[in-house]
This record gives sequence, structure tokens and C-alpha cells, in this order.
Amino acid sequence: MAVNLHPSIDNGIKKGDPNFAGGTLNCKCGAVEVKLASNVAHNHACGCTKCWKPQGANFSVVAVVPKDKVSVTKGADKLKVVDPSATIQRHACTNCGVHMYGRIENTKHPFYGLDFVHTELSPQTGWQEPQFAAFVSSIIESGFPPSRMGEVRSRLKEIGLEPYDCLSPPLMDAIATHVAKASGVLKA
Ligand SMILES: [Zn+2]
Ligand SMILES: [Zn+2]
Repeated sequence: MAVNLHPSIDNGIKKGDPNFAGGTLNCKCGAVEVKLASNVAHNHACGCTKCWKPQGANFSVVAVVPKDKVSVTKGADKLKVVDPSATIQRHACTNCGVHMYGRIENTKHPFYGLDFVHTELSPQTGWQEPQFAAFVSSIIESGFPPSRMGEVRSRLKEIGLEPYDCLSPPLMDAIATHVAKASGVLKA
């Protein structure tokens, strides 16, 4: 049986609309709605243990959006931060457990200003399609058999997602550039 990556990509990648201007995200129980006033960027499959993923999926599909484009339009009182000690503060619905947005509060973090969101929660189509797969080896930490990792990486490549065991090279470069500028070894 083919490995379950995530329901939104298991049958292949559907291209987004470059002119798409945003939409809404709804949690599974319908209590919370979040509005995104723009399309997302850096959408990707993520194998880490922290991202919210639907039942049976080995990966989440997660993207970023500028935090000033994110507003909670319904059920703000139902949201609670999953792990207050985590770098990304994931605001989840206390009824159904779905993560509605993840925010970085540390202003020195390379990704400060970007929120992490799951576009599969949206009734609209046109969101940027996944571009790559990140933290692929980390699915083992959720109990995935290490012996089947070859199968996972082949399947990701087959649907057009390059598998990385950290983030993609452009994002890793962005992080390193931020760190180098902060330490002064690289001039802005
Ligand atoms: Zn809910
Ligand atoms: Zn993740």
C-alpha cells in the first residue's frame, strides 16, 4: 500500500492561482474562523511532530502568511496556545484541536512577522500549492518505520516535492543570513 503523506497531496499536487487574494480557514467543528487577507507563501509538507495534521497523515501541509494579514473572525475565545514554551505559538481550537495559526512572538527570530497556517482548512481554492517537503526524517519521531523512508522520499519526489530533512535551501539561507547579520559577520 502506498504511504499516506497527506490527503491533499496523496493524489498529486493541484496548482494554485497566482492571482488568488486570500480567504478563510475554518476549524473542523466550525467554532473558529480565521481570515487571511492574502495568499500564502512557502507552502510545504512538514514531517515535524509539532504541526497539526489530519488523522492518518504522516505530514502536515503548512504555509506562511504575514501576521498582519491574519485576523480571527469567529470564536476567538475558543483558541488556546498548544505549547506556550514552543517557538511557534500554535493557536488551536479547544473543541476540535485544529491549529488555526502559529505565531512567532520572538522579534529576533528569522521568521518573526510570519504566521503558519494550514490552507486545507479553507473552503476556497487557489492557495499556493506545496513546493517541497521539510523535516522528512522527523516522521520517524512520530512512529513511522525507518525502513520505509526510501518509499516516502520516492513518493514525495514522484508528486514533485523535493524531500529535505530540514527546511528548503532558500529558507535555510534566509535563516543563516539573519543570524549572520545579527552577529555582524555579514553587513546589511
Ligand atoms: Zn474547532
Ligand atoms: Zn512541522
